[in-house]
Amino acid sequence: MTDLSDLIRQRIADAGPVSVAEFMGVALTHADGGYYVTRDPFGAAGDFTTAPEISQMFGELIGLWCAVAWQSMGGPESVRLVELGPGRGTLMTDALRAARAVPAFGRAIRPHLVEISPPLRAAQQAALDGLDLPHAPQWHATLEEVPLGPSIVIANEFFDALPIRQFERTEEGWRERLIDADPAGGLCFTLSRKEAARLGPAPEGSVQEICPEGTETTAAIGRRLAAFGGAALIIDYGHAESALGDTLQAVRDHEFASLLDAPGEADLTAHVDFEALSNAAQVAGARAHGPVPQGHFLMALGLEDRARTLLATADAARREEIAGARHRLVHPDEMGLLFKVLALTSPDLPPPAGFEGI
Ligand code: SAH
Repeated sequence: MTDLSDLIRQRIADAGPVSVAEFMGVALTHADGGYYVTRDPFGAAGDFTTAPEISQMFGELIGLWCAVAWQSMGGPESVRLVELGPGRGTLMTDALRAARAVPAFGRAIRPHLVEISPPLRAAQQAALDGLDLPHAPQWHATLEEVPLGPSIVIANEFFDALPIRQFERTEEGWRERLIDADPAGGLCFTLSRKEAARLGPAPEGSVQEICPEGTETTAAIGRRLAAFGGAALIIDYGHAESALGDTLQAVRDHEFASLLDAPGEADLTAHVDFEALSNAAQVAGARAHGPVPQGHFLMALGLEDRARTLLATADAARREEIAGARHRLVHPDEMGLLFKVLALTSPDLPPPAGFEGI
């Protein structure tokens, strides 16, 4: 496995300091040593836990959301169900199982998984193997590789993993934050000597983040929906309106970790700027709905009813688990408020489930 710290120091020696985005891209997805490419990071034994790993209710409700979206599209005989960054495949598996409640939808689904990590692709395959699907799932490295056509696109905690660039307002104007080699053999932050392209006015010391891959991906989703019909659901933590601030963080073993010390060993994420994503999708021809807080969205989709159904047949330990999961997913002090849900649709569709009257 490549030592990513050495690799980045070599790039710096060859061509000068690298952007935060280049560092993040190498640390997370380098083919030989990138964080996601070398491990399964989820769950108690891993570094972090995501909503589908907390409870089957999450993926099931999203599966039903997809069924309603498909009906509003006129129930096409074939629809691509595309998931970006499917992790262990838990959300996709729970969604496909729930989708059987609408048999014609179950038959229409062509599953497409966009995943860069070989071990996670294997985990997704193993999770889906038990389902006996009418159409075999297909894997792709990028959204562009997914064949065009009517589509429903899901992304949970995918956009926060895409590389961001950071700019800092100094007394001499905006400068890009870069990463340089320090004499002790490690990496350190520095600022570009050249002034960065014009950003808005802001007090000295402010940090502005942009996520070019995030806006490009959302624009690609928007173009696909506008041309072929469909809907998308983007779920992540972040802010509803663009805001200044440094949100880059490293997490390892469920704790915050150093950003630069061990690239490839910690998860690196940044808050998602939902306003920027929404704008990119609308410019591309789609309609945007929300974002709404995750708690609101899951309650609107019937989380309470689903929890009650599961509780009815559960033993004491399982009852506690279900109640705990419901709390983590929707309570404002847990994931309920920080996590947000943005829906995108082709312009001819009504507001999707959970976004009516907002
Ligand atoms: N959606 C899952 C996993 C979230 S973690 C869940 O909620 O549990 C981020 C996922 O995106 C992982 O599967 C990771 O391997 C994948 N990923 C990260 N960057 C990617 C990229 N540039 N292209 C494709 N997949 C990527």
